[in-house]
Amino acid sequence: MTATDDKRYFGEGLLRWYRKVRRDLPWRRSRDPYHIWVSEIMLQQTRVDTVIPYFNRFVDRFPTLRHLAEAPEDDVLKHWEGLGYYSRARNLQAAAREVAERYGGEVPRSKAEVSALKGVGPYTTGAILSIAYDQPEPAVDGNVMRVLSRYFCLEDDIARPATRIGMEGLAQSLIPEGQAADFNQALMELGAMVCTPKSPSCPECPVGERCEGRLQGKERELPVKTKAKKARPVFRWAALIEGSGAFAGKVLVRQRPETGLLAQMWELPHIEVPDEDAWIRPEEGAALLEAALAEDGVLVKAASGEVVGEAQHIFTHLVWKIKVLGASALEEQYVADRTGYRWVGPEEFENYAWPNVFRKLLTEYFLLTLRR
Ligand code: SF4
Repeated sequence: MTATDDKRYFGEGLLRWYRKVRRDLPWRRSRDPYHIWVSEIMLQQTRVDTVIPYFNRFVDRFPTLRHLAEAPEDDVLKHWEGLGYYSRARNLQAAAREVAERYGGEVPRSKAEVSALKGVGPYTTGAILSIAYDQPEPAVDGNVMRVLSRYFCLEDDIARPATRIGMEGLAQSLIPEGQAADFNQALMELGAMVCTPKSPSCPECPVGERCEGRLQGKERELPVKTKAKKARPVFRWAALIEGSGAFAGKVLVRQRPETGLLAQMWELPHIEVPDEDAWIRPEEGAALLEAALAEDGVLVKAASGEVVGEAQHIFTHLVWKIKVLGASALEEQYVADRTGYRWVGPEEFENYAWPNVFRKLLTEYFLLTLRR
């Protein structure tokens, strides 16, 4: 059996299987490079089932690249809310604006131009060029590296950039002529549906007969991947500042800065404390919060130190651990005029983009107050 026969076996087997079983996903109904791009960005770190309703809403609201490029950022974030990793949405819009200005609104066809767009890495470049334009470019993500490691019984650490580059070369060499779109999607589908991380269904695998990993009994050991560092906990006190009088039923919230983590999203005012010790005693948290908010001209009383909620927000490298203290504002109208601060009630809640953790805390609070 020659290497060419092997490649043909793999490519043909995979394509035959894919054409029979492929899932009918909304982004597979079109070859529009913009739609494919949106779906690929949404699918990073996020499950297909979660992405489907977001994708549908997003392309409904921003049906073309120009609609996205011209939309206010708040609106884009609002349609991304709940998907997390919000820099993806910001980068996508920044790149859409670049495509609108520089390429007349048409996603370019050259690898160099696509990969230079903000937020578009080698995987997304390959996915766009192959799926939308049928160019023989590999699209290698964690799923594909797992399949290739197992099929070829490769023991290189897939966390290493050099391994990824090698896998891209291998994946490219496997693409059957003129079939890049289906082949790349077939490889992704195999990783998602059959060659799954913990329990690959080898008996159902369309290329299982010649899978070297399976033949050597190593399918569950592969791929080799060194562990990522554990997310670092960060301890925070937040204030749930309830309004009264003209602001009764509302809560004071603020907008995050224009850049950085969760940029421009809305949140409960909060502070970070240096370690867990400083997160244990509510009275200390109250004093620290009062002092920090006073620097913004927001005078609050949190001295009762009552913890009214607790939640956490998991990022790739960090976990925010948040305890919430009940509080009241001393000058409600004055506070309402502070830049970046706003009183928000349940009726306006949906007009703002919230990170999940604050959406959860505020939803619980508003539900509770409605029941009172
Ligand atoms: S035979 Fe098993 S390990 Fe090999 S590619 Fe198929 S599902 Fe993966």
